[in-house]
Amino acid sequence: MKSRFAPSPTGYLHIGGARTALFAWAWAKKQQGNFVLRIEDTDKERSTQASVDAILDGMNWLGLDYDEGPFYQTQRFERYKVVVEQLLDEKKAYYCECSKERLDGLRETLMQKGEKAMYDGCCRGKKLSSGVVRFKNPTDGIVVFNDAVKGKISIANKEIDDLIIARSDGTPTYNLTVVVDDHDMAISHVIRGDDHINNTPRQINLYQALDWNLPEFAHLPMILGSDGARLSKRHGAVSVMAYRDAGFLPEALLNYLVRLGWSHGDQEIFSLDEIVALFDLKDINKAPASFNEEKLLWLNQDYIKNATPECLIQHLGWHLNNQKVETDNGADLSLVVKSLQERSKTLVEMVEGLKMFYQAFDEFDRKLANKQFKDKVPLEALLEKLSQLEVWQANEIKVVIKQVCDDLGIGFGKVGQPFRLALSGNGNAGSIDLVAELIGKPTTLKRLDKAIKYAC
Ligand code: GLU
Repeated sequence: MKSRFAPSPTGYLHIGGARTALFAWAWAKKQQGNFVLRIEDTDKERSTQASVDAILDGMNWLGLDYDEGPFYQTQRFERYKVVVEQLLDEKKAYYCECSKERLDGLRETLMQKGEKAMYDGCCRGKKLSSGVVRFKNPTDGIVVFNDAVKGKISIANKEIDDLIIARSDGTPTYNLTVVVDDHDMAISHVIRGDDHINNTPRQINLYQALDWNLPEFAHLPMILGSDGARLSKRHGAVSVMAYRDAGFLPEALLNYLVRLGWSHGDQEIFSLDEIVALFDLKDINKAPASFNEEKLLWLNQDYIKNATPECLIQHLGWHLNNQKVETDNGADLSLVVKSLQERSKTLVEMVEGLKMFYQAFDEFDRKLANKQFKDKVPLEALLEKLSQLEVWQANEIKVVIKQVCDDLGIGFGKVGQPFRLALSGNGNAGSIDLVAELIGKPTTLKRLDKAIKYAC
């Protein structure tokens, strides 16, 4: 058993592409088959190296490992040429020299008559030796196939015109290369977006002309944006790497993607192992799926909450680097991460939260400071008592805060809030005794001092 993901490198790795890759990957893994990555880069004008890199980076970040590939179609031109020659020799294909003007005129006339724009086979009987190469599609009969998602699909051959399989410069077209590759690479399951469903009968005819076995086909339903239109840039981030940049965990994104068009009872959270164990083509929905950012964010938060600090640290590496946050000196990163897990919806939020442990801030949030530093007495009492504290631990620090409250006869908020602002600069911090422990005694005292000076 073998499946493949066959993106064209004409842009970034799109969320929809990643979902296709995930389904094909999961189906292969489930059956201990192989998963192939094939870069369909025959469109030289639109394909770029940057897009190839974006696809490879996206696959790598998601952890969708491939057993074979990446293969590049541009390295297989010789092979396609052989197949086109074979079809020409066997009179299953022919050269066509119809001009663009003629084809445009033909299309216009058919459309005016309310008919489907199709090539009329004008050059079929001519014995030309140059031009584009067209495949002689059967003129009668029906193409029938059983799509693993959509069910039985049939189309009459008279609805299908003679497809161009090679351009006049000899370069092959998509429908030819995809058939040759899926055959040569022994692909047993072609899993792809349903925007390709109209190509499938044409491809089946090519398989038959070449006397090759057909693979199984599974066409995945579209992904729609919140307004019901096909998911696109208009709906916000659609590139996989934009989600990495926004602080999503790959496991959370994969979990989200697998639920776009596939379900297993009402289960929402799936580990990768569970996806592999439970995934089945027969459980893919026929109807389009809707993309919901909020649900993705909820999942991400859940994954962050439940991940081990070690795993989060691994994923934080890129963000820390990107934001130039140095964590080598200072609080123990895994303890800091642990303290932030409950409060971070994304890794970007987590990095924001952890900056205070490693970086000095220039100024306090003015609005908050004017309110919370009005009375410097609690800050001074804290500074005095904490500087005498020998065991620098959250529970001990908590006792000190409580003592200050009692001594001054004020509530926790009147001490805890200014303390939190003194340490964080912006008031965004978790449990203050733990924060103080992690920041360490010298920095805590220094920041309290700074706050007292501000209050004066
Ligand atoms: N290269 C095609 C695309 O990116 C996919 C071809 C296929 O999966 O058959 O849309």
